[in-house]
Amino acid sequence: MTRPPLPFALVIHGGAGVIERDQLSESEEKSIHADLDAALEAGRRVLADGGSALDAVQAAVVALEELPRFNAGKGSVYNADGRHELDASLMEGHTRRAGAVAGVETIRNPVKLARTVMENSPHVMMISTGAELFADTQPQIERVPNDWFDTGTRRAQLELEQARESAAAHSDAVGLRGKYFGTVGAVALDVHGNLAAATSTGGMTNKRYGRVGDSPLIGAGTWADERCAVSGTGWGEFFIRNVVAHDIAARMAYRGDSLAVAADAVIMERVPGLGGDGGAIAVDRDGNIAMPFSTTGMYRGWIRPDGSRGTAIFAESD
Ligand code: ASP
Repeated sequence: MTRPPLPFALVIHGGAGVIERDQLSESEEKSIHADLDAALEAGRRVLADGGSALDAVQAAVVALEELPRFNAGKGSVYNADGRHELDASLMEGHTRRAGAVAGVETIRNPVKLARTVMENSPHVMMISTGAELFADTQPQIERVPNDWFDTGTRRAQLELEQARESAAAHSDAVGLRGKYFGTVGAVALDVHGNLAAATSTGGMTNKRYGRVGDSPLIGAGTWADERCAVSGTGWGEFFIRNVVAHDIAARMAYRGDSLAVAADAVIMERVPGLGGDGGAIAVDRDGNIAMPFSTTGMYRGWIRPDGSRGTAIFAESD
């Protein structure tokens, strides 16, 4: 007699931000759903084969990094100097192993380098030139020239943002609200009961050279332990100051909150309470999932332990 497959869960995001329904054509909306579903499928295959949550979140994030629509890998936003500086991290819950890179400029799939830092170095996080030098010693890591990440859409966003900034009477941080589409992330529960999370981003358009957001910071943009796995997206400075991903886990651990209550409190109250916004995806060890966001939309996709599956952009659709 064959035993039924053990349940797993997977959630992905392609970023939160001001996503206006009337600015999306029907065909564009369709193609976003198709892209999200393809990334979901990359992770699902790993989990359905009995693979680890860590391999699944990596596979899903690599798929998203490869899609130029999203602000990670190909299609990353530009910094103020017209270059791309990429950040990524991942974490495995039951071992608490983690890897991260920040400010890398020639790594096609930053999440793979984060995994390599975790497995092939004694460190958790490497940045900029040091991370590039480390990558030189890892021939399996694919390198590309910085302009390989270029896309016309992101170039137009940079020009718009620079024009807005120079027209502003003073440096108004408020103008940044909601302008961070496309960071990607994944969280998973595997059939062995283990959890993992991964996040990858080009950061925020027009960021200054060397600016690092929450995505590569373990605890801020990414967290996994034996209770839950979390990946965030939004205005990174506020996610750092609220240690968002770890705060969700800590509320479950110390207060006994459910995943939904913990994620809602942090994303819908704490972050907006300081003036920021964004969203997060999370899964707990029972396969419950949460996908709160305080922006108008968040690209997301999910597979629940009962096998139900979906993708969504706006609030009402899951
Ligand atoms: N959180 C990312 C950052 O601040 C941006 C995003 O989520 O889109 O770098």
